[in-house]
Amino acid sequence: MDIISRAEWGARPPESRSTVPWSKRTIFMGHYSAASATQTPRQIQDFHMRVRGWSDIGYNFLVNSVTGLIYEGRGWTALGAHCAGHNTEAVGVCIIGKDQAGRQDVSDAARRAFKWLYDEVNDRKGKRLTLLGHRDRGATSCPGDEIYAWLKASLPIVGSPTPQPWQPTPKPAGTRPAPGTPVVFPLPAGWYFGPASGPAYSVSGLHERYFRGRTDRAWLRGWADQLGRRGWSVGKDRRWLGQHGNDGIYGPEYRALAIAFQADQHIRQDGLIGAATWNAAFRNPVT
Ligand SMILES: [Zn+2]
Repeated sequence: MDIISRAEWGARPPESRSTVPWSKRTIFMGHYSAASATQTPRQIQDFHMRVRGWSDIGYNFLVNSVTGLIYEGRGWTALGAHCAGHNTEAVGVCIIGKDQAGRQDVSDAARRAFKWLYDEVNDRKGKRLTLLGHRDRGATSCPGDEIYAWLKASLPIVGSPTPQPWQPTPKPAGTRPAPGTPVVFPLPAGWYFGPASGPAYSVSGLHERYFRGRTDRAWLRGWADQLGRRGWSVGKDRRWLGQHGNDGIYGPEYRALAIAFQADQHIRQDGLIGAATWNAAFRNPVT
């Protein structure tokens, strides 16, 4: 999701600012404005700075209860002013709307946006923050009964399965660019390295045909060598091609290696080495 930046919503610059290290953040706190959802972040900021005398808008982020648009307040790491005595540990997010009578609903879009912020803060922290409402730490009814109950239920989203506890977003570990020099797929379009029993465009290496000045065997050996550069154990007595070695003649061993590599790359697992499987070896990053 996008966060509408301070520059985009026309924020005044803060009069002062101090930051909080992530190690001190432990709480994700929900608020509401208990006013019309037509209120703008700039109006809230003006109120906080001119009337309350704060250095900036009080919240770290704001979400419009109707549109679900997310606005940057003080941001992820700045000390907020939304819950006296708890601004160091708590990231405060205000849902704009829910007038005093609490009549307006909080839209699905707004709930998704709020939950997205919560997932995002957990990812940034690398650990799950405790979900609280303002009333858990202050003498206030904020964020109202409806939002408070939703917080306490761990932010279920209508139409979605039961909410899962937050898990770190998996990140590819140690991604590096493809090793070596990219080699263009040497066969005509639509052809592939495959079994000798296949059609003419299934190139096995058995008959030693020439493509782009080299034999099919040399090309197929080049593809397997490239997998070796990518960290695959390839060759005689190794994990892959262990029986016949990298001899450039397509058979069950090349097929097994191709299928394993295709699975690794999330491409079609047919065991045939066409342009997609060739290019994945020479161009895709190693994860
Ligand atoms: Zn509040």
